[in-house]
Amino acid sequence: MANAVGRPDAIPHDGWDVAANTPAWSRDSGGLASAATPPAPVTWPEGYTAAACLTFDLDAESAVLTADITSVYRMSPMSHQAYGPLVGVPRILALLARHGIRATFFVPGYSAHRYPAVVRSIAEAGHEIAHHSYFHENTIGMDERTEADMIDLGLEALHDVAGVRPVGYRAPMWELTYSTPRLLAERGFLYDSSLMDSDHPYRLAVAGAAEAGAAEESSLVEVPAWWGLDDWEQYAFLPDLMGSGVIESPAKALQMWSLELEAAHAIGAVFVLTCHPFLSGRPARARALEELIELMERLQGLWITTMGAGR
Ligand code: ZN
Repeated sequence: MANAVGRPDAIPHDGWDVAANTPAWSRDSGGLASAATPPAPVTWPEGYTAAACLTFDLDAESAVLTADITSVYRMSPMSHQAYGPLVGVPRILALLARHGIRATFFVPGYSAHRYPAVVRSIAEAGHEIAHHSYFHENTIGMDERTEADMIDLGLEALHDVAGVRPVGYRAPMWELTYSTPRLLAERGFLYDSSLMDSDHPYRLAVAGAAEAGAAEESSLVEVPAWWGLDDWEQYAFLPDLMGSGVIESPAKALQMWSLELEAAHAIGAVFVLTCHPFLSGRPARARALEELIELMERLQGLWITTMGAGR
């Protein structure tokens, strides 16, 4: 599966060996629970004992507009969200360039349409562009046809703006539906990063894909994430709208994430940090992120990679 920017040549291409893992999740087996056996640690490319991925969700205005469309008339919250693509992204791109690190940017189609030059600048810098819905829409209770249409709108936007066919997906607010894995497999996606039932990447079995013409034995690689490694919980203060409602110190966030990083490294897991440019693009927060990157660089055997290259 071609992805214009997802597999830069500068990093190893061996991929994550998850073949030996038992599928941890399947709609076939009753569908609504994880398998009884947790996924085993994966084999990392030679020379590596653990992995870390920096991911940035370019939600910008879409997350707020989805929560309350009338917020479009509130100039100040809109400007808070615009800070991400306008100021946060250039700062983060410069930070990543200083360290020679490629990251994964999950981009809603609406953000691509609204900030095409910003999204192109991310792709041109060699980072992976992945799919993050069209309008950061709430998928809870959404019917399958609507969800499919929204995924397709997102694909069109990323193609039109950046010429990218993404191989990775992250659901808005990490709310995967039981239809999402099949909808992704049918469209050629290779990985998802929305579930929380493992420290290790694993194969997510996709039931029902055969009926729709996909391969009979279909699966995605699931690269788990969770709220503890999301800057939203630390910083997302948006009065009367949404978010965690707190503004934590970057020193506290750095301490939390450093502890998680060191522990993940010690057990051979994958550390997936999720940041939002409108939050972590602020100066002191970006500085804390740089300190975390410096810790990553000191950890022996840690594979710092994009999600697409790691699949
Ligand atoms: Zn998001």
